[in-house]
Amino acid sequence: MRKNYIYAYVTLAVVLALVVYYTMDTTEQAPVENEEQLTVKDVYWSYDGESGPNEWVNVDAAYEACGRGELQSPINIEISNVVEEKVGEDIQLKYEEELFSIENNGHTIEANSTSTDNSMIINNKEYKLTGIHFHSPSEHQLNGQYFDMEAHLFHESEKGELAVIGLFIESGEENEVLAEIWDKMPVDGKKAVQVLNNPINLQQLLPEDKSVYQYVGSLTTPPCTEGVNWFVLEDPITMSNEQINQFSSIFLQNNRPIQNINNRDVFKIDLN
Ligand SMILES: [Zn+2]
Repeated sequence: MRKNYIYAYVTLAVVLALVVYYTMDTTEQAPVENEEQLTVKDVYWSYDGESGPNEWVNVDAAYEACGRGELQSPINIEISNVVEEKVGEDIQLKYEEELFSIENNGHTIEANSTSTDNSMIINNKEYKLTGIHFHSPSEHQLNGQYFDMEAHLFHESEKGELAVIGLFIESGEENEVLAEIWDKMPVDGKKAVQVLNNPINLQQLLPEDKSVYQYVGSLTTPPCTEGVNWFVLEDPITMSNEQINQFSSIFLQNNRPIQNINNRDVFKIDLN
């Protein structure tokens, strides 16, 4: 009887030891993240594979709009479906010379505003320019066609509302307005933020004809927040093949796929 007890205890001890041994093998486990310290900016996402656009919705709870939103960007703008004229819209660009600071944030090259002098006035409300960044190829389409690249000029109101100008870029003459940004373009995020030596006036970047397609969409990157007021310029600007290739040697493809338009209206208006 006593022998049976000892046998049972030994067997139990061996089983427990094995269980402990296998559950303690944590060498291959990732370090445990503190969820509360994780900010939206830190959550990893990319343009392909397991963390690519179709998976953004699953990467973080804060990215829900990326999969379930119905006012998402970018879209294909079919010119024949555009509503010509939007009565009562008054949009003015107040751009002057500014020194931008250049950084590679791992998703794009960003030229950030260093002042609050530049702004866009939409129906008397001011949206300050926060910066400009680039996508290759373009994110929006015109009649189903992509352009080589697209620039996004971000503006934010005091209440945090966003207005973005989308600017198509096609291969052609060298772009001199962006030349210094391209000279200083950091190949990766390890390089410190650099401030330009020469100011840029974004008025000189924009095409002469400022007809834009306006619609309500979203950020094209996580968290895909909706309510963004989009103004996509009809006329593209140019960059040399060399400039386009320099960008795509760093970001071969950093555009989100076209999203469903879901009965949204696209209006044609003019920027002043
Ligand atoms: Zn963008």
